[in-house]
Amino acid sequence: MPAPLDHRSLYRLPWNLADNPIAWLEPTQACNLACDGCYRKNVKEHKSLDDVQADLDVFARLRNVDGVSIAGGDPLMHDKLPAIVARVAAMGRKPIINTNGLALTRERLVELKNAGLMGLTFHVDSRQGRPGWRDKTEVQMCELRQIYTDMVASVGGLACAFNSTVYDETLHEVPDLIEWAGQNVGKVQTMVFILFRAAALKEFDYFVGGTKVDVDSLVYGQPQTRRLDLNAREVVDVIRRRYPDFAPCAYLNGTKEPDSFKWLLSMRVASANRTYGWVGPKFMEAAQAAYHLWNGRYVSYVAPAALTMGRSVLAGAWPFDQGVRDAAKSWARALFTTPWEAMRELHMQSILVIQPIDTLADGSDNMCDGCPDMTVHDGKLVWSCRLEEPRAFGNFCTAVPKARATAAVRPQLAVAPNGAAE
Ligand code: SF4
Repeated sequence: MPAPLDHRSLYRLPWNLADNPIAWLEPTQACNLACDGCYRKNVKEHKSLDDVQADLDVFARLRNVDGVSIAGGDPLMHDKLPAIVARVAAMGRKPIINTNGLALTRERLVELKNAGLMGLTFHVDSRQGRPGWRDKTEVQMCELRQIYTDMVASVGGLACAFNSTVYDETLHEVPDLIEWAGQNVGKVQTMVFILFRAAALKEFDYFVGGTKVDVDSLVYGQPQTRRLDLNAREVVDVIRRRYPDFAPCAYLNGTKEPDSFKWLLSMRVASANRTYGWVGPKFMEAAQAAYHLWNGRYVSYVAPAALTMGRSVLAGAWPFDQGVRDAAKSWARALFTTPWEAMRELHMQSILVIQPIDTLADGSDNMCDGCPDMTVHDGKLVWSCRLEEPRAFGNFCTAVPKARATAAVRPQLAVAPNGAAE
């Protein structure tokens, strides 16, 4: 049984507020689905190109980014999406579209690629109420994942990633999705698992500036019966029951808990036939440092061609990275028994687990330290997962445990409007 994860033995990704590979652009709030785990109120409103440019200008002024996630809502709802992609590309940054894929056609994909698109992250899971895909399991949803994968591969030259929200009832299917991703290792560069979160209404009251607010009005403020505290370590345990050698290499910690894994990154070296191993922390450290030295930025999305360089990674990184060394040994052993494996390409594929906001028992927020998905609100960078709060209340909410909230509110109620104690 592998040892439990210790954050001190993994590489802490060097991403921070000012120097971060990603920024999160939302040209629209409109969406054609209503996913259970969505963070955004579905409003049929698009930003104008001038407003989009203003957000891009904020990123350019405040954040050293390598790529821009164009999200929403669903960005394919925006009729000026090719122009938005072109603007990001013109800034010398990688445009990545985050979409549910529903409005995607091959023709649109070609148009977006011609506008400068670098890749897509598809959000596909079994709790999106997709027409024709309701009541499917995560495994059954792989049929749809395959359709998007093959469409992107047929156009060529685009990175392809998948997001799935993980709920307590779908956690057990995560290893199946990793297996499917392994079968598509030449076409799918990244698989992302985002743990479900919502406001914890039973445990906390929510305040803004000392005033209690009704978070029921927020899309993530609805009463829930699901678990709200799934964590990355649990996901690793579930994966390791199927893949005992599964080994994360890098992470972002929480703002309150240094040993929590808010972004937990693993990267396999694999052929379409078989996974040979998982790169270690030193490889990831070398990759981030080298990219930064060369380009002046940290990296998250890389061109698909770079991820077909599994052999070069084995040859170049084995002297300093134990994970790569183990993968190289495993590949060399395989060549003895199945020499034709030498003919197969070796690919790199990332598996990422994201553990969004955790509200701790005292009500404090354990956010992702070095949040990559910062977006713009009122000219400032804010967490995209909580954008609805400043929009609705003018600021972020503070959670206060129920018992304390009651005690804090009572003295205020005991003061009459004229200031005299009642
Ligand atoms: S803090 Fe929120 S927006 Fe930022 S990476 Fe974490 S979950 Fe995403």
